[in-house]
Amino acid sequence: MTLILHSKNFETIVSHCKEEEPIEACGIISGQIRNCDGKIVKEVHRIYRCKNKLHSPIEYKIGAEEQLRIFSEINDNCLDLLGFYHSHPNTSSNPSKIDEKRANYVGYSYLILSLHPIKISSWILEQQGFFTKEKLNII
Ligand SMILES: [Zn+2]
Repeated sequence: MTLILHSKNFETIVSHCKEEEPIEACGIISGQIRNCDGKIVKEVHRIYRCKNKLHSPIEYKIGAEEQLRIFSEINDNCLDLLGFYHSHPNTSSNPSKIDEKRANYVGYSYLILSLHPIKISSWILEQQGFFTKEKLNII
């Protein structure tokens, strides 16, 4: 699978994450899933900023109410939930041990932005506790 991220949405994620520094920023991504020449392509159309309920530099949590509100907005707009994003203010863009333990949307994308230096990676949660890297195209 490939995740396509338009550069304006990438910039939105970067500026959100910089604003929240030193705590982790988090949010939700939605868009469309297409079959392109036999390959599954997911294109991000909208970014939803969320509040990190844990207010922590090493972990994040999106509140249940906020998450439900955004999921229904995605539904109302006939978009698909593609996954989540969050920042790592002090570590690489690889999933942390906490991410492996907490992530529970199997099959969805987890975008991680490291801030020093700026680097974004996309990960698919294959099963609880296990991520694989996903191809990410910034266009
Ligand atoms: Zn993380």
